[in-house]
Amino acid sequence: MEQVFVVRYSEIGLKGKNRDFFEKRLIDNIIKIVRPAAVNKRYGRVIVRIGRNNPEVLEERLRYVLGIQNYSLGYALPHDLDQVKDTALKLAQDEVSNGAKTFKIAAQRGFKEFPLNSIELNREIGAYVLENIGELKVDVHNPAFEIGVDVREKEIFVFCGRRNLSGGLPVGVSGRAMLLLSGGIDSPVAGWYAMKRGLEIQTLSFLSPPMTTEKSVQKILDLGKILSRYLPNPLKMWIVPLTEVQMYIKDSAPDEYSLILQRRSMMRIASMIARRNKAKAIITGETLGQVASQTLTNMAAVEDASSLIVLRPLVGFDKLETTKKAKELGTFEISIQPYIDSCTAFSPKKPATKSDINEIREIESKLEKLSDLEYEAFQKRELYKVGND
Ligand code: ATP
Ligand code: MG
Repeated sequence: MEQVFVVRYSEIGLKGKNRDFFEKRLIDNIIKIVRPAAVNKRYGRVIVRIGRNNPEVLEERLRYVLGIQNYSLGYALPHDLDQVKDTALKLAQDEVSNGAKTFKIAAQRGFKEFPLNSIELNREIGAYVLENIGELKVDVHNPAFEIGVDVREKEIFVFCGRRNLSGGLPVGVSGRAMLLLSGGIDSPVAGWYAMKRGLEIQTLSFLSPPMTTEKSVQKILDLGKILSRYLPNPLKMWIVPLTEVQMYIKDSAPDEYSLILQRRSMMRIASMIARRNKAKAIITGETLGQVASQTLTNMAAVEDASSLIVLRPLVGFDKLETTKKAKELGTFEISIQPYIDSCTAFSPKKPATKSDINEIREIESKLEKLSDLEYEAFQKRELYKVGND
């Protein structure tokens, strides 16, 4: 008896070539993230074959595959009704030993040449389960558990219940983007939501050595490790020392604008790194109106320096929602470690909340050394690759 996961994905809005592309990517991601014995596409489902692997280990990894709506753990059987009945009974016994008292069989006959139709299958298999487990009753409307029997041309799948996952799109179908990863609570969460819409991410973090230490680097890498679970390949993480740029801005520009100017430098450097790595967008953890730097005018003034579109997956979130998700993902505990990223070291005392874009450009144009310093910072970029074990 072969153990499998029956994996279901949402097909809404997927047609023709798009659908093929989606399915290929999903299967490829499952192979790389879950590392099962084999994977096949069957009748609008994906069958993940467990083989000699430990099902619990694979199930844990399956949860990191974005694009899956739900899945069931079950068995793939030949066209042999006795085996189907015995398997259904075994699954039912497990549920009963956990306290379940009612059930139903939900058979589907996708392969029309099978001698019994779905109603007959429900009846036969249900009767067999009832004969063998005296205390169990059928409840078609609100059963404690449901045993699915899916009859297909080559195999019959028998499974119990469904477990929901977060859905979304398989990582990679939407292309690649560069996540600005700060070490705060928000940006790792933003990265997850970007991946959920099918973006394959790389990360970029600006640090201020020697004010920031190896601990800050380690913190960033630890965050990356968590995000990398959702990726089919190791996560590429870029780290850029921004200290010289920050010191120059601090010394040469009005204090209230220093934050916006620093962010504009980050955007230009990020655009350079993104383009070289074929990333088509920059992602940030910004939300609207959370802090002084995140007013609409300031966002516009910062985005103005980027040559790529800037995506802000958390724009409609409040801090509670973001924190909840960060806890779920496991990034929260890392984010609250006290090791700073670059910005805190050079924050203005009173950052401007309304910045006129023309004024900013004017001030920036007088910072003669800025673009050289940005280019030097870009050249000092370091690459780390963080993998899923
Ligand atoms: P976070 O919790 O992600 O740090 P935040 O609430 O602290 O966000 P800001 O400090 O205004 O808000 O940062 C907004 C966004 O800018 C971050 O989410 C991140 O995407 C980017 N960012 C800020 N500082 C850095 C940095 N040092 N390196 C990389 N990206 C940064
Ligand atoms: Mg921050």
